Amino acid sequence: MSEYKEGMFPNYSPANFIPIRGLGSRVWDVNGKEYIDLGGGIAVNSLGHAHPELVEALHEQSSLLWHTSNYLVNKPTIELANTLVELTFADNAFFSNSGSEANEVAVKLARKYQHSIGEKRNKIVSFTNSFHGRSLLNIALGGSNKHREGFSPIPEGIVCVEFNNLEEAKNSIDKETTAVIIEPIQGESGIKLADQEFLKGLKELCNQQGALLIFDEIQSGVGRTGHLFAYMKYGIEPDILSSAKGLGGGIPIGATITKAHIAKCLEPGSHGSTFGGNPIACAVAQRVINLIRQPSLLAGVLEKEEILVQGLENLSNKHNCFTNIRSAGLWIGCDLTRIDSANNLLDACYQEGLIAVTAGPSTLRLAPALNISTSDIHEGLSRLDKALSNY
Ligand code: PLP
Repeated sequence: MSEYKEGMFPNYSPANFIPIRGLGSRVWDVNGKEYIDLGGGIAVNSLGHAHPELVEALHEQSSLLWHTSNYLVNKPTIELANTLVELTFADNAFFSNSGSEANEVAVKLARKYQHSIGEKRNKIVSFTNSFHGRSLLNIALGGSNKHREGFSPIPEGIVCVEFNNLEEAKNSIDKETTAVIIEPIQGESGIKLADQEFLKGLKELCNQQGALLIFDEIQSGVGRTGHLFAYMKYGIEPDILSSAKGLGGGIPIGATITKAHIAKCLEPGSHGSTFGGNPIACAVAQRVINLIRQPSLLAGVLEKEEILVQGLENLSNKHNCFTNIRSAGLWIGCDLTRIDSANNLLDACYQEGLIAVTAGPSTLRLAPALNISTSDIHEGLSRLDKALSNY
């Protein structure tokens, strides 16, 4: 770890072990110690580690074609775009390399669309406690002052409204509003679900005022909630949706999808990305979607959510450790009774051979692989039980 500290920027505080291999929901470190992975790389390893079909897709494409540039098209990109179009509200897709980029495209697209129809709007509405990424635009959109500290000047024109407060939203969404961007379920702030009525109200307000509704589904999408995208759980369609994380199952990819009348304003030359639409990333993402779209896999997510949440409730009864457990599929936030103790709990988990993540200083977050076995869930819970006894 000292070599890591010497070589890297000091902006992360990683665990003091180095994983070198993973299979399914198990990971091994350099010393051969085994871990159950309930963190899922923060909702990225959607099908676990080294899934044979994803490895096959990676190998196949890597021996065919790695990169083309945007002067040429490639087959995996076309296929993935068509799959996303077939499975969602959208007519068109744009590929990038990360969640932050996917959101950047979403906002640029919304502005360009309004401009293309002659609207001079300059306000974006976002929400408290939201997280949209770490680029300058995304820290401006996000709900955290800490993320903005020291990085001025920050892009302007963003109005932050209280999450789940429809009255406040009504007062802010008007004819000046280009777009409203929201995580339908907030991930970084600990799996906080938007109320059904709130999202419905936002959709109506956007329609009335001519603003575009952007769903940031970077963490909530690709099966995480037991639905292919969280908007399907709510039955409320956005105008633009951003996806990343679980879409690549561990390979970097971002996607922004939208309706044809909006997409068409990004005429040739108006936006681009060197690596976006990379054939290897798209071939793997295609296989991820093929596996996750299966009704049996999505139903399994909801069944395993019940098992995991029940297990966590049992642990809370035993240790009096959680004040609240929130879940949306295999995506769970447990508020800790002991304030500010999430990092200590993580260390105790690592000690017991369990990988989890946090959401803020007082919330344990779990986002395991969507295909995790029930025996791995039980083993993970038993290791968490030991960690809770020792932290
Ligand atoms: N939006 C949401 C909801 C996220 O959870 C994240 C990452 O955690 C991002 C955007 C940023 O994604 P990336 O880190 O890939 O830029």
